[in-house]
Amino acid sequence: MNESIKQELIKIVGGENYTERLIDLVSYSYDASEHFHRPWCGVWVEKVEQVSEIMKLANRERIPVIPRGSGTGLSGMAIPARGGIVLDLSHMNKIVKISIEDRLAVVQPGVIYATLEKALDPYGFFFPPDPASGKVCTLGGNVATNAGGVKGAKYGTTKDYVLGLQVVLPDGRIMRTGSKAIKSVSGYDLTKLFVGSEGTLGTVTEITLKINPKPIAASTGIGTFDSLEDAGHAVSEIMHSGILPSVLEILGRETLVAINKNTDLNLPEVDAMLLAETDGYTREETRYQMNKVIDIFKRNHAREVKEAGSDVEAAELWKARKSAYAVLARIRTHFVLEDVTVPISKVAAMLRGVNEIARKYDLQIATYGHAGDGNLHPQILYDGYDPDQVRRMEAASEELFKLAISLEGTLTGEHGIGLSKASYMALEHDPVAMDVMRSLKKLFDPNNILNPGKMALEE
Ligand SMILES: Cc1cc2nc3c(=O)[nH]c(=O)nc-3n(C[C@H](O)[C@H](O)[C@H](O)COP(=O)(O)OP(=O)(O)OC[C@H]3O[C@@H](n4cnc5c(N)ncnc54)[C@H](O)[C@@H]3O)c2cc1C
Repeated sequence: MNESIKQELIKIVGGENYTERLIDLVSYSYDASEHFHRPWCGVWVEKVEQVSEIMKLANRERIPVIPRGSGTGLSGMAIPARGGIVLDLSHMNKIVKISIEDRLAVVQPGVIYATLEKALDPYGFFFPPDPASGKVCTLGGNVATNAGGVKGAKYGTTKDYVLGLQVVLPDGRIMRTGSKAIKSVSGYDLTKLFVGSEGTLGTVTEITLKINPKPIAASTGIGTFDSLEDAGHAVSEIMHSGILPSVLEILGRETLVAINKNTDLNLPEVDAMLLAETDGYTREETRYQMNKVIDIFKRNHAREVKEAGSDVEAAELWKARKSAYAVLARIRTHFVLEDVTVPISKVAAMLRGVNEIARKYDLQIATYGHAGDGNLHPQILYDGYDPDQVRRMEAASEELFKLAISLEGTLTGEHGIGLSKASYMALEHDPVAMDVMRSLKKLFDPNNILNPGKMALEE
């Protein structure tokens, strides 16, 4: 970093909040994807005014700035692809206000998802998106990636809860969007524009979130299926049966086999296992819904169905799903975790297609995911030190994306575009949509300093 700019940055954040130490720069060069690139320096900020001053300086000097939460992104979104300054927001970690009577929470972006969950619990409220990384990821990161989770089919994703934002624009101006009212249709929806924008349009410095009363009862059940078609039909039938399960997860055969090889869970090695949870405010209500789910499992030729009779039994049924990512991550030196999403009725077709792609490229691809909203996670396992396997992995990823689009789905339901899927944006978005997205980027960030090189915004 140029010495005079370094001194200006230190003036803004203080010497203790500026770093060029190798250990920090290496940490900032990664997220949870396979990408890496080092920044020139990192700064920890505590106040919106500091973010504003840094953006003014960076805009004047044309230096890239990369907002960063916890770096758990799976698509290289927080990688400093062009070097520059990592703007670490993890010290802006205060819950500013919880207002139960207004059904909202106001938080700084560095608050960890689980911290808010814990703070809301005594009031009997929750913020539903529930990403699996909730113990470590930040709410700023959740907003910037529009994070979702296992409860998406019933509760939606982060975008359904963001009422308003404070954002620092790339030129340093501070802007407020939305309001503290539960509903507002005033003007363009600038709030939504920033949700899922992956830190390319502005830096989020305060978030107003709608919160929900927390259901106090839940029922859990599983069904195993010898055919993907039967499992797929069961998913569709459940989702239009008039009930809305809070969870409807699927684990494919490859995933079940891998879990069996690496744990003592001893799961049935069938084509698909479905895990369902119904929630509500009385046990009768959740049992009523679960009975319907179990009936649908049976009608669709489930080989076996099980319903948990207690919390301990429910935790047992959840073990397979909860262990999937970690078990699969350990099998090969490298993996990519995709999150293609298709209409609910196409889940079986997508799963069948994934199996065909795995055979074609002679790769192990294990799939699990949120069947209830069509969001599947094919995890491609490969040896990243073998160029032939890397080539096959890339070709298989591309075919997965093409298949999802051909089934009227999307490249990504949760993990974002970042660097990983930038070259596939045009598969999904027509030239006019791409042109509008690039024009928006130019409008907010004419000098292309905020998280440059992402989302194919430059071509
Ligand atoms: C084991 C594991 C499980 C996961 N499970 C899920 C899941 O269930 N659902 C899901 O959606 N994701 C999941 N993820 C992905 C990841 O956790 C989410 O994308 C999360 O929202 C990222 O938060 P973060 O704080 O780590 O953000 P980072 O990785 O630090 O940043 C992500 C993006 O947000 C931008 N950003 C961060 N903070 C701000 C801010 N304040 N203002 C503007 N831009 C900002 C960054 O520039 C970057 O583009 C998982 C990841 C892992 C490793």
